[in-house]
Amino acid sequence: MSCVSGFHCVVCGEATDAPKSAGVCPRCNDPSAVLEISFDLDKAARTLTPAALAERPFNHWRYRELLPIEPDAKAFTWPVGWTPILESERLAAWAGARRLRVKDDGRNPTASFKDRASSVGVLHALQRGATRIACASTGNAASSLAGFAAIADLPATIFVPAAAAEPKVAQLLVFGADVRRVRGTYEQAYDLCSARCAEHGWYNRNCAINPYLVEGKKTCGLEIAEQTAGDVPDWVAVSVGDGCTIAGVAKGLIEMHRLGFIDRVPRVLGVQAKGVDPVALAFETGEPTPPDGTTMADSINVAVPRNWRKAVARVRETGGCFVRVSDGEIGEAMKATGALAGVFAEPAGATSVAGLKRAIADGVIDPASNVLAVVTGNGLKDIATAMRLCGQPTEVDPL
Ligand SMILES: *Cc1c(COP(=O)(O)O)cnc(C)c1O
Repeated sequence: MSCVSGFHCVVCGEATDAPKSAGVCPRCNDPSAVLEISFDLDKAARTLTPAALAERPFNHWRYRELLPIEPDAKAFTWPVGWTPILESERLAAWAGARRLRVKDDGRNPTASFKDRASSVGVLHALQRGATRIACASTGNAASSLAGFAAIADLPATIFVPAAAAEPKVAQLLVFGADVRRVRGTYEQAYDLCSARCAEHGWYNRNCAINPYLVEGKKTCGLEIAEQTAGDVPDWVAVSVGDGCTIAGVAKGLIEMHRLGFIDRVPRVLGVQAKGVDPVALAFETGEPTPPDGTTMADSINVAVPRNWRKAVARVRETGGCFVRVSDGEIGEAMKATGALAGVFAEPAGATSVAGLKRAIADGVIDPASNVLAVVTGNGLKDIATAMRLCGQPTEVDPL
């Protein structure tokens, strides 16, 4: 049922064989030469119809023609995707937009967007007969991988940087993963993970260089199209770290447009933190120069993005662009998203909302627009930041 038509390198464009898991172009010798999967959309259109979708389960496997692997009956029971889109007039007024909707991906089973990729990675690893799956992560990819590995009964080894938020590490431990906290940065955890995977033959879930996983992330875009068909937003805002999430969302929107589910492709707005903006820089200059700064939004605190080429190309294809927001603006957006829309977002989750407000204030987005923010992670992932922003409760004595 899967309609994969081939693999090619995003740098040289040459077709390649399907990699076993992670991999870059064998010819280019460039770490940013990641692989892209193409699909035969004419073939997909024969079975992926509104009538067929109406009969399918409400999780992301419903788009099986557009996924790189064949879900089996067991996978169909894994709860992932089909997260709600909420309309908020009050948050729209706060951001200065005519209309604003929020897609709350914090409602996935392990409370972040990453479940869309991990579920595909774990299923692919099982189908390849892997005995262990590994990843390096700022937190959410790790907790997500550990959760899906637990559901699927596949051992997992997870490398996290020293600064990973404690609630995410707690999730890993509860899900029974073998957790290695690296005394170093995310980039160092990433390199250690890649080395151990090569050494032991473990399945490497690291999303940016594993082309299968980005297709899982695509399902958020497929869902936005299906859920808003007939009433599509003008802009879709997504926060950006490595760039896999935004590349996936944009690819999903583009494919659903080609398949005729939506009559136009929303423009995609990439949002980065002011201190850590290499993908925005690459969009503007062609080079993802590593930044000196940092951000409290740990999930997008990525100085060396692995997937910037796909992110930049896809955003451009939608007619979108990038904006930067300060940590202060992210904090304000976190409070507004909670208090005005009832959605508790982690800092990187609220970054999309902050970016919409900034883009409207800067005249990048017309205030008459109809916009949608993807909230990529739940606020319970980082309660320390939430408490710091919102203060303490009022202490009172009992009666
Ligand atoms: C991973 C993550 C992102 C960014 O995704 P990239 O693929 O790294 O760009 C954004 N928000 C949250 C909550 C995340 O966990």
